[in-house]
Amino acid sequence: METIARENVQQAIDETFAAQRIQAKYNRLSSVKERKILLEKLQNWIKNNHSDIQRAIHADFKKPYAEIDLSEIFVVTSEIKHALKNLDHWVKPKKVPTPIPMLGTKSYVQYEPKGTSLIIAPWNYPFNLALGPLVSAIAAGCTAIIKPSEMTPHTSALLRRLVEETFDKSQVAVFEGEVEVAQVLLSKPFDHIFFTGSPAVGKIIMKAAAEHLSSITLELGGKSPAVIDNKADIKDAAEKIVWGKFVNCGQTCIAPDYILVHQAIKDEFLKELVQQIKKMYDPSKKGIEKSKDYARIVNSKHLKRMKNLLADAELKGAVKYFGGHVEEEENFFEPTVLTGLTEEMEVMQEEIFGPILPVISFADLEEAINYINLKPKPLALYVFSKDSENINKVFKETSSGGAVANDCVLHFLQNELPFGGVNNSGIGKAHGHFGFLAFSNEKSVLKQRVGLTASKPLYPPYGFAGKKI
Ligand code: NAD
Repeated sequence: METIARENVQQAIDETFAAQRIQAKYNRLSSVKERKILLEKLQNWIKNNHSDIQRAIHADFKKPYAEIDLSEIFVVTSEIKHALKNLDHWVKPKKVPTPIPMLGTKSYVQYEPKGTSLIIAPWNYPFNLALGPLVSAIAAGCTAIIKPSEMTPHTSALLRRLVEETFDKSQVAVFEGEVEVAQVLLSKPFDHIFFTGSPAVGKIIMKAAAEHLSSITLELGGKSPAVIDNKADIKDAAEKIVWGKFVNCGQTCIAPDYILVHQAIKDEFLKELVQQIKKMYDPSKKGIEKSKDYARIVNSKHLKRMKNLLADAELKGAVKYFGGHVEEEENFFEPTVLTGLTEEMEVMQEEIFGPILPVISFADLEEAINYINLKPKPLALYVFSKDSENINKVFKETSSGGAVANDCVLHFLQNELPFGGVNNSGIGKAHGHFGFLAFSNEKSVLKQRVGLTASKPLYPPYGFAGKKI
């Protein structure tokens, strides 16, 4: 960023932040009705600009329209509807019981907006992951500044337009740009920072937040495993995994990163996997590169990263069981299945975040569990089995942000569940009530009656000093 441009950005951010700080004080007293009006304005804009939203996201990486409708627009509108329906209930102070020594007092939890918030979004679901947290911020009564990802410029510009046409900048604002813009924003003393992105950048955000002791929600990534035991329905597992892995071209934080399959069914599972890939992405047998139902890699830098991961794995002995076809000018990378993997390969070390699927076999469930537990705690974990004991065993003996039996990715759409990671895959939770709580201070309130207190016998002078109590 040039010096002059940087100064302008700094000044604009300073002014907007100052305006939002003032607004945040008023927002403390904002009624549910006022917050609902803001949510409805957002809802209406989305409804009235449906095709503009589709066009912008499609222009960024050819995400299929059906995927845009489900994974970008529907997810946000359902989050809004859920907040509109439940907000009266969420904001109500929650009474807590009074223990005997506190008799005469009343205690409750009061939900106050944290104040000013910053939302930093990634590129992979650029609309949903910027606006989902915004819904929670508005529901909780916070102001918000959004920093969309620079990697999806069409969606970033659309988000800016949406916000400028819908909100006063003292309530919600967008600052587009690269890392430098994020850094200027991070220098401000926000009350809450909601970040979605990689664990590496998550650490940078946490350090910056520490400077002001801003609270944080970190929605990060990692290697999410899918375990297929010998009691799984192979076709059902393969079909669901192909969808969960290759939707958005594998660029999904909760996509199955790698497969752990029981050795007894490995061959059959691999065959079914390939059949399902062809059925979903190449029904006319013209080649997957012709499919309009398959997104592209976001840019040439990430395409190169995918190619390097594949080359490194093959060099170290991995076998390309299916796929591997690349069309550079289109950022096309075919769904690719790998076998013969070892831990030295980069593909088994870093989050793949693209359409490469390593398949490893195990001899018994204990071995699969130990393998998962040797890696950082994943964002999601999937188990495919008809044996509920096996499913519960894996769920109980591993730690992950979310866990799903016999499906993939679906928990993201369940508004009643908290969504998020654990340690390396994230800190704090999002969605629905949990998103509302992320942007709220759960203030503990205790009301005593004038002239009364149960603690008087504990005041000095301490008559009981030296006695056993
Ligand atoms: P990223 O961490 O590179 O970038 C995310 C955002 O942070 C962008 O807006 C970017 O401009 C900003 N940023 C980048 N470097 C920064 C820095 N040094 N200082 C301040 N801000 C900086 O992530 P990405 O490539 O956009 O997204 C991919 C990652 O996000 C994957 O790891 C994926 O698993 C994760 N993710 C997680 C979730 C979730 O809900 N947990 C959802 C989607 C993606």
